[in-house]
Amino acid sequence: MGYVSGLKCRECGREYPVDPIYVCEFCFGPLEVVYDYKKIKKVLTKKNIEKRPKSLWRYKELLPIDGEPQVGLKSGFTPLIKADNLAKELGVKELYVKDDTVAHPTLSFKDRVVAVALTKAKEFGFDTVACASTGNLAHSVSAHGAKAGFKRFVFIPATLEPSKIVASLVYEPNLVAVDGNYDEVNRLCSEIANKYRWAFVNINIRPFYAEGSKTQGFEIIEQLGWKAPDNVVVPCASGSLLTKVWKAFKEFKEIGILKELETKVFAAQATGCSPISTAIKQGVDVIRPVKPNTIAKSLAIGNPADGFYATQVVKETGGYGEDVSDEEVVEGIKLLAKTEGIFAETAGGVTIATTKKLIEQGKINKNETTVVCITGNGLKTQEALTGRTVDVHYIKPNLAAFEEVLKKISN
Ligand SMILES: *Cc1c(COP(=O)(O)O)cnc(C)c1O
Ligand SMILES: [Zn+2]
Repeated sequence: MGYVSGLKCRECGREYPVDPIYVCEFCFGPLEVVYDYKKIKKVLTKKNIEKRPKSLWRYKELLPIDGEPQVGLKSGFTPLIKADNLAKELGVKELYVKDDTVAHPTLSFKDRVVAVALTKAKEFGFDTVACASTGNLAHSVSAHGAKAGFKRFVFIPATLEPSKIVASLVYEPNLVAVDGNYDEVNRLCSEIANKYRWAFVNINIRPFYAEGSKTQGFEIIEQLGWKAPDNVVVPCASGSLLTKVWKAFKEFKEIGILKELETKVFAAQATGCSPISTAIKQGVDVIRPVKPNTIAKSLAIGNPADGFYATQVVKETGGYGEDVSDEEVVEGIKLLAKTEGIFAETAGGVTIATTKKLIEQGKINKNETTVVCITGNGLKTQEALTGRTVDVHYIKPNLAAFEEVLKKISN
């Protein structure tokens, strides 16, 4: 049996049994999974973890399942790359890229949350899974849902990048493209979730789904040699990933794996959809919803469900939040590619460009260790780079033509 003691309202603290529910009946606060850390401490040791298969399930006692993992058995344990070239470029001593562009079946960090959500959906006995997605969640639910034998309903804003739509369709889900932005898709899905008994991964089973994000935090600690970084930069859509990376760090402290924890957590957004970083910069607790307008569509949530909690984590840890223009997002993608050979999607461009800004502002100390979370693969959002890369050298098939090119390059 698992190590979950129940659900708890983040606002009023009222407790609930483990059910597919997500809001407090009394104060409408979001529900959070609570664990029995005393029990976990006895089994989840560094030594035991190191013996396990290299997937996100190596931390399974800190994930909200009762039985064995059933979905996404190969997800997670993505590389932590020591990014020396990028560090040099940005003028810092020690920089790491947590590279979620690879090693996941659908090439984004959403395979973490979906592995957990669909395993939980199986345990709850659902036969249909669904989601409201900004793109990557659609891929992940479509793919993992197919393998796990679920009926799938996937809702996206109709304006999503064409390549992102194809990458969902290939798994043959019921893909519903809604004429509206993500926040409108999400509102519709809440209504549907109330009416149909489906596991909406980011609505009615959101407390369980969101826990999957912690695995990125666990991996960072393990891959740094069981140490916490001085700084971590996390891209924000709903703000959930950021809060869960921090929860992961705190849990490793709680069960004795980390001796010290003084990490500062930084939030990265695109200026065209920056309700969280704006609140942080203004020093206010109220998230003012916005209408998204950015090429970083996977982060384009104008009314972020966990926005408030993300600002609290940033405040509590002494971090900060920043946002960058679409121009800077593209530059960020190219900088990561040409220094580290990693092709990230627009969200990765947001994180790199924001990190650069935070370093320039002195908010990130040049002599400290920083981890940058890169959450999705660039092949998914190639449209963002159209006409903005270096040029192709088109030639006739002869040596002279090629040598013309060489001459041009050396000039
Ligand atoms: C979903 C997503 C995030 C973060 O999402 P949260 O809602 O803040 O947890 C970050 N990067 C990518 C690429 C995503 O798809
Ligand atoms: Zn409550």
